Amino acid sequence: MKEIGKVLRIGIIGTGAIGSDHARRINHVLTGARITALTDVHQPSAETVRDTIAPDARIFNSGEELISSAEIDAVLVTSLGATHEAYVLQSIAAGKPCFCEKPLAHTSEGAKRVVDAETAYGKRLVQVGFMRRFDRGYIALKNAVRHIGSPVMIHAAHRNQSVPGTYTTPMAIHETLIHEIDVLRWLLEDDYVSARVVFPRSAARSHSQLKDPQIVLLETANGVVIDVEIFVNCHYGYDIQCEIVGEDGVARLPEPSAVEMRVNGTRQNSILTDWKDRFVDSYDVELQAFIRSASSGVPGGPSAWDGYVAAITADACVRAQESNGAEVRIDLPPRPSLYD
Ligand code: NAP
Repeated sequence: MKEIGKVLRIGIIGTGAIGSDHARRINHVLTGARITALTDVHQPSAETVRDTIAPDARIFNSGEELISSAEIDAVLVTSLGATHEAYVLQSIAAGKPCFCEKPLAHTSEGAKRVVDAETAYGKRLVQVGFMRRFDRGYIALKNAVRHIGSPVMIHAAHRNQSVPGTYTTPMAIHETLIHEIDVLRWLLEDDYVSARVVFPRSAARSHSQLKDPQIVLLETANGVVIDVEIFVNCHYGYDIQCEIVGEDGVARLPEPSAVEMRVNGTRQNSILTDWKDRFVDSYDVELQAFIRSASSGVPGGPSAWDGYVAAITADACVRAQESNGAEVRIDLPPRPSLYD
């Protein structure tokens, strides 16, 4: 583990949209770390990040070489989801702290292999990129829960202005709902026991591979019932809603701040359209937390176990999409004590 007070040397695997954005924040926004290594299957993309953001970084031919290099203290895995598991497993084998963008692995079996490897290693090294836990609004909402009595219901919505034509119905779970799956169980400190999916009539921007919108109904071990509307071609903006109904009151996720205008006989304010703008501060806070825990050796943030639970829940939700409204049980294995 790196000495406290020294700059953490980070290597990034995958320098696409989120990898290059994380490189920018590590070198230009955050403190305590520096990008010293980069790799991407598309080498010109790593070279662009080096030339524009990380001039000290060496470019490696592969993720494997980068992980085993003595020139890095910690690993950021921001390549495509299907490649995450192998890089995270190699980081654990090398004893290096690893920040892995969601998903932790492409399958729940893969996520289990990561949990098993980390448990066998005996120390938490992995932080999964569920950045909403670091969002100021969600943190305020979690603090508010204790004032509204025991939660009984959550009403939530995840609406995207639009998605590419290649986006399909199961992606609404694995790419979109996955953030609610993690943040809602974190808010409630509770686990899911069942899932159902209900489809209203498909809206006009749906197609043969995408039924949109849909409503996912989750029930927790404590009997809280959650409805999450997913509407990925809602047209009007990027809109994240969450309302927790307790026995004594209701708490709502704050809206992003926006100037209210009164003009031409109307009262109006804008709604964000790009998801990157909605959680830009949370990405900063989550990566600063990773730098802190990788430097100090004190683990924090969403764990490999959280990534595994999210994967099991997502698989159940996809089965529920295919089950004509029938309930699908969610059975979690016992949690290893490493994650208590
Ligand atoms: P992207 O723009 O496609 O970037 C991924 C990069 O990884 C591409 O340059 C790709 O090269 C490269 N790559 C693919 N396989 C690789 C391998 N085996 N080794 C090294 N590099 C490899 O995708 P993105 O939008 O940045 O997303 C990356 C990951 O972050 C995804 O898992 C995504 O779900 C996650 N993500 C999370 C959030 C969040 O809110 N937390 C937001 C965005 C993305 P090629 O293009 O040549 O394949």
